[in-house]
Amino acid sequence: MIFNTIAAIATPQSIGAIAVIRVSGTKSFEICEGIFKHNRNVNFKLNEAKSHKAYYGNIIYENEIIDEVLLTLFKAPHSFTGEDTVEISCHGSVYIQQRILQILIEKGAQIAKPGEFTQRSFLNGKMDLSQAEAVADLISSQSSASHKIAINQLRGGISNELSALREKLINFASLIELELDFSEEDVEFANRDDLKNLVISINSKVTSLLQSFSLGNSIKNGVPVVIAGKPNVGKSTLLNALLNDDKAIVSEIAGTTRDAIEDTFIIEGILFRLIDTAGIRNTTDVVESIGIERTFEKINTSQIVLHLLDATNFEEQEIDKVLIDERYHGKQLFIIINKIDTVELEKTFEKFTIKYPNLICISAKEKRYIEQLYKKLLETAGVDELSSNQTIITNSRHFEALLNTQNDLNSVLNGLQNNITGDFLAMDIRRALQHLGSITGEVSTEDLLGNIFSRFCIGK
Ligand code: GDP
Repeated sequence: MIFNTIAAIATPQSIGAIAVIRVSGTKSFEICEGIFKHNRNVNFKLNEAKSHKAYYGNIIYENEIIDEVLLTLFKAPHSFTGEDTVEISCHGSVYIQQRILQILIEKGAQIAKPGEFTQRSFLNGKMDLSQAEAVADLISSQSSASHKIAINQLRGGISNELSALREKLINFASLIELELDFSEEDVEFANRDDLKNLVISINSKVTSLLQSFSLGNSIKNGVPVVIAGKPNVGKSTLLNALLNDDKAIVSEIAGTTRDAIEDTFIIEGILFRLIDTAGIRNTTDVVESIGIERTFEKINTSQIVLHLLDATNFEEQEIDKVLIDERYHGKQLFIIINKIDTVELEKTFEKFTIKYPNLICISAKEKRYIEQLYKKLLETAGVDELSSNQTIITNSRHFEALLNTQNDLNSVLNGLQNNITGDFLAMDIRRALQHLGSITGEVSTEDLLGNIFSRFCIGK
């Protein structure tokens, strides 16, 4: 495909040792040649220069030296975008970066839209859509687990699984459509039992991909953990202990953590988003009651709840009350008895840990048994599954497409059960193929591409 030539600063737009400006498109060599002077070769021509090499010289504009730079050359189709590409490594002054970009624009390049380099890579067949999306995931990955999933997707993890399934289904669709051409003769090219078995096996693959989404989503965005409990039980102190910093307000006056504070920490490569909340209690203070309302909202969006109880002021029936609390329904709930350092006999609480499997005794203030809590959090996040080489869905667009595929495949199965005619069967199979194909971009629309790539950063 032929596009106009685009340019963008690919590194963060702030001061750095060096910055990289990318130029891609049919005119990129011509544009760069007009402003670049090789330090030794006066007859230097980008067209004739070797690809995948860096060239040292100056950017000169209207007889003024703008900067000493390195040009790296990538000739089509062997570049990220599949087009002729030049990467200009200049000194990292914001002025120089902006000036060079401005000159490139004056010379005929256009400012790249967010994600346009990657979009071109997709449109030029260098990668499929799920791989292009993995580029964005890779850039935004914050933990080793999310990095691992993004790399796997970038290397075609999802694409390979789906294209194999899709191919088999396409074969059947073609056979059924062939039957339609011979409809007068009542022939059956596509064996219905084989089709049924195929659809069942594809459906089970799709179902396992769908099931991986909740883990994938947690890994990509962080596992949301809420710390809840009455005022003064030590929620902020626990948050500090987990984060090892002083972000939350720790105070002896009940109700001082007015709003939710959110921060993240990583254990063994898994990102957790920790949400401290205003204390849960009935209150007439308006500001505080807003905080409490938010607590309930936060609990709703969390996966794990750490409900704190105070060992210095403890009654066993509180545990039962927490366990039947409706707000925690569907959440992974841990009851944390805090401040055990103040209790003479730590053993007093040992019996509760035996009786209630999800109860942990800690001292947030003295950071005792925090390791045990980390371990529980890791187990609950389901990371064990990650160690296998299983493909994990992290993208809600893929999730939706797989869900639609599952519905279509169920329609095919129902159709087979009820002996519906080939034309209806073919329609359902085609629909499933379309939904499967939308993940890797075999089937795509301009709106969909616009939506995906507009979320990328400029220069990528
Ligand atoms: P929050 O209102 O639930 O956020 O409670 P804070 O974290 O503000 O703590 C309230 C009080 O309990 C502060 O004086 C803390 O120092 C104290 N506290 C918190 N955790 C512990 C603990 O493990 N042991 C002891 N002895 N005191 C604690």
